Amino acid sequence: MKQLGFGLMRLPLLQAEDARTIDLEQLNKMVDTFIEQGYTYFDTAYMYHNGASEQMVKEAIVKRYPRSAFTIASKLPTMLLQNLGDQERIFSEQLERTGAGYFDYYLLHALDRSKYETAKRLKSFEFVARLKEQGLIKRMGFSFHDSAEVLDQILTEHPEMEFVQLQINYLDWDDPGVQSKLCHETACRHGKDIIIMEPVKGGRLANISPYGEKIYRAIHPNWSMASWALRYAAGLDNVKMVLSGMSSMQQLQDNISTINDLSPLNAQELAAIQEVAQIIRRGIAIPCTACRYCVEGCPQHIAIPDYFALYNKMFEEPNASARQLYDGYVSAGSGKASDCIACGQCEHSCPQHLSIIEDLKRVAQQFEK
Ligand code: SF4
Ligand code: SF4
Repeated sequence: MKQLGFGLMRLPLLQAEDARTIDLEQLNKMVDTFIEQGYTYFDTAYMYHNGASEQMVKEAIVKRYPRSAFTIASKLPTMLLQNLGDQERIFSEQLERTGAGYFDYYLLHALDRSKYETAKRLKSFEFVARLKEQGLIKRMGFSFHDSAEVLDQILTEHPEMEFVQLQINYLDWDDPGVQSKLCHETACRHGKDIIIMEPVKGGRLANISPYGEKIYRAIHPNWSMASWALRYAAGLDNVKMVLSGMSSMQQLQDNISTINDLSPLNAQELAAIQEVAQIIRRGIAIPCTACRYCVEGCPQHIAIPDYFALYNKMFEEPNASARQLYDGYVSAGSGKASDCIACGQCEHSCPQHLSIIEDLKRVAQQFEK
């Protein structure tokens, strides 16, 4: 299987402010190009695009290609599980939404210390093992957002897990919160296949400062910024798949040409990546990856990741249009950052463990003065 996976979490939209309005015509073209180039792996989840991502799997892939032509990964939303019956109900809904018949890869979604406790309480590991026995999933694993110590505990207590999906990119490699490097070493030590998510850090590494871009262009004038990040991730040990959440045909073609042309990075290229990582680290104010897990449950309908993106942009390069864009979100019906009632729902959902409530205060100070 070729090493690039199509992440279906940031699909092109017909209305930018409504995540359910996926542009099916555009998606069909992207799927066709992906499959024509020999790629087969599609990664969705119950929560992506507020449920519309799994529905689009049916429309864009399942109805248009024979089942043998593609591989589907989906995920059990551990953050939504409360009662024993939730797992059966959600899994049935996923099969119905996608029409896939079975999932090639099925993951417990976004395990961390607290969701691991939920999974143990509800016997989620036994649940996915049963699905595998029944032929409803082919391989079982989990995606993960916590320390290497927690990862080691889960893999030690559940050696039956066949693979693990980790957040790895060159910016998070040494990050003390994300611990990409330590988590990668842990998964390798347990002999697990690794699927990489967020190799471009939610698009953050595709748009870097002019200083960083200059360093990269001096070595490879034609490599895109995203290409550097993909190459870094794909070259690591035990990596079977690198996922990229693609939003446009241009991004898809760029990623395909990167993976088609893959070769190990040399010492000069790796040194350039370290240098650029330093430059970027100095510029990020709020390390949000725009996964949008926090958005749906916010009682105040605050456009949290959109506000953080504007804040980061402003932090890197002050400009007046950021304020206008902020006002535009509010006029379109989003709550203001200062409308936050500190209920904490978003922080519970955030795989990056961001202090969202505090960060929204910074956003309000910046854009509501
Ligand atoms: S803490 Fe604030 S931003 Fe987070 S879900 Fe509650 S109201 Fe929304
Ligand atoms: S604040 Fe956290 S949960 Fe929300 S989009 Fe950003 S990274 Fe995702």
